[in-house]
Amino acid sequence: MPLASGREFLSIPGPTVIPDAVLAAMQRPAVDIYSGPLVALTDTLLADMSRIFATAGRSYIYAANGHGAWEAALTNVLSRGDKVLVLESGRFAIAWGEAARMLGAEVEVLSGDIRRAVQPEAVEAKLKRDSSIKAILVTQVDTASGVANDIAAIGKARDAAGSDALLMVDAVASLGCMPFAMDAWGVDVAMAGSQKGLMTPPGLSFTAAGARAREAHKTANMRTPYWDWTFRDGDVHYHKYCGTPPEHLLFGLRAALDMIFAEGLENVFARHRLLAEATRRAVGTWAEGQAIGFNASEPEQRSDTVTTVVMRNGASSTAIADYCRDQCGVILGRGLGAHEGKAFRIAHMGHVNAPMIFGTLSVVEMALSALNIPHGRGGAQAAVEFLAKSVPA
Ligand SMILES: *Cc1c(COP(=O)(O)O)cnc(C)c1O
Repeated sequence: MPLASGREFLSIPGPTVIPDAVLAAMQRPAVDIYSGPLVALTDTLLADMSRIFATAGRSYIYAANGHGAWEAALTNVLSRGDKVLVLESGRFAIAWGEAARMLGAEVEVLSGDIRRAVQPEAVEAKLKRDSSIKAILVTQVDTASGVANDIAAIGKARDAAGSDALLMVDAVASLGCMPFAMDAWGVDVAMAGSQKGLMTPPGLSFTAAGARAREAHKTANMRTPYWDWTFRDGDVHYHKYCGTPPEHLLFGLRAALDMIFAEGLENVFARHRLLAEATRRAVGTWAEGQAIGFNASEPEQRSDTVTTVVMRNGASSTAIADYCRDQCGVILGRGLGAHEGKAFRIAHMGHVNAPMIFGTLSVVEMALSALNIPHGRGGAQAAVEFLAKSVPA
């Protein structure tokens, strides 16, 4: 393994690369949890999370991963027996729905295609047929399929159907990378985690509650002490985390949000769009060899945070990911669910720039050559050319 040394390149869709400033912010002693800098920090973080979700509603911070925030979102607004509609576009909404079922909801899946986004018309038709649906679960980006859903259109479909179902959105793989407008899109509950676009170590997650969600919360009987919004709403700082705050992660998150706001949210989104498109130029070029291609069949539905690349002829993707890791220290995302062993995923979310993307794309191209996998030549070069045109001198 002559190339195995040097910095490891983590190119998986979470956890993502943690900026040095975030790591440095966590390198400090523990502080008091009742007074001092932590109390003021909480206020800024809660306000800034609502700013990132683009809501006038309140945000909540949990010492938990994304699965925890799924449970937080569900338990705060649902009652046992409530009917929940899961919109399939890959793996993650399905798993969120499984959590809802275990908590006592009646769950129905609006079946989708792993290669396509949710169709808003299908949502509208379903909601018209079934007025008993209390909540809709959907991901903005499904990290397995690499598909991005049009949340604004799904919100409009809900309204057009005359449904008052709560729209609950998983933004774990998109928040802080792609536009998200909770209030403007009619989203009632949003959730996210720290370790993807928010560039912070795993271990924090978030929910945000809109006005209709807060109304449903009043009568929800799935509520449990740890996740409960009402308990966390009081003035007692200790209650805001239902116990000892995850201090170091909070200091890290502060540094990450400072970086995002210093760059400017619009610039962050533009950077993700450019790096995603550069990745797509490479994958599109490789696809000419007909052995690999995009999972997402519709170009406009391809996520700006992760690109899922599938093997076209039933070949194994494992050798590609293994080669990248073992020979070059580049860790790719593997295929999930139905894609296990048949896809790899290139993340372009969070603390990423052009050299990181070029590095990953070049190594994937090297693997395709070394493994004699047919592919259109010059994928990495196509990424370079695209960015050169898009970023003038
Ligand atoms: C990563 C991810 C999750 C799960 O988050 P964990 O922190 O691993 O629990 C949920 N939804 C989406 C869309 C994700 O990408």
